[in-house]
Amino acid sequence: MRIVLVGPPGAGKGTQAAFLAKNLSIPHISTGDLFRANISQGTPLGVQAKSYMDDGQLVPDEVTIGMAKDRMEQPDAEGGFLLDGFPRNLSQAEALDEILKADGQQLDAVLDLEVPEDEVVKRIAGRRICRKDGSHVFHATYSPPQTEGVCDTCGGELYQRADDSEETVRTRLEVYHRETEPIIDHYRAQGLVVTISALGSVTDVTGRAMDALKKPAQD
Ligand code: AMP
Repeated sequence: MRIVLVGPPGAGKGTQAAFLAKNLSIPHISTGDLFRANISQGTPLGVQAKSYMDDGQLVPDEVTIGMAKDRMEQPDAEGGFLLDGFPRNLSQAEALDEILKADGQQLDAVLDLEVPEDEVVKRIAGRRICRKDGSHVFHATYSPPQTEGVCDTCGGELYQRADDSEETVRTRLEVYHRETEPIIDHYRAQGLVVTISALGSVTDVTGRAMDALKKPAQD
């Protein structure tokens, strides 16, 4: 399957993507994770991306589209993939359409995670992420680790993302409404969108998502 996951920052895209990719046996491709890996390795791409990320703005398409395309062309993604955080604006969505068309492929579904805005801010403010594996995500109040600052799963150090500060979250939400939401209509016109509520436990949301992916798009 070829799936795109969309939703505002804090909707739990990364967490859900990790579970869904595992359930569906497809790679989880997160452009945010790819940028963060480039930043920690000090690559030129990471240097280019960092200032945009720190400000909560989108990294320019020239950089992002090429990076996503390279990743989608890796052998493990031949049979499908789950895209998390890409595309994030209309021109990236159009570029993705072209990339897939050139290979005679198409998306199977666009899963839209819905979450109220006040919940988003609460979720992000308490979010703590493992340095060793970004899919290990905790929350200071909702799902605290057993030992503060330490990942329950692998013992890695937990940290708060620089772009999870309240001010940057506000910018990221504005960017989401302005740049990313329009891609939902773009995909709705292709009959691909399935919308589910992202409220409730992680397992509940994964169950809802798996059920939704089995059904044809509703709108
Ligand atoms: P995420 O981990 O998906 O929340 O992404 C973190 C940050 O990485 C975003 O706020 C952007 O600065 C950057 N980023 C991730 N994916 C993209 C994308 N598709 N286009 C532009 N910037 C992106």
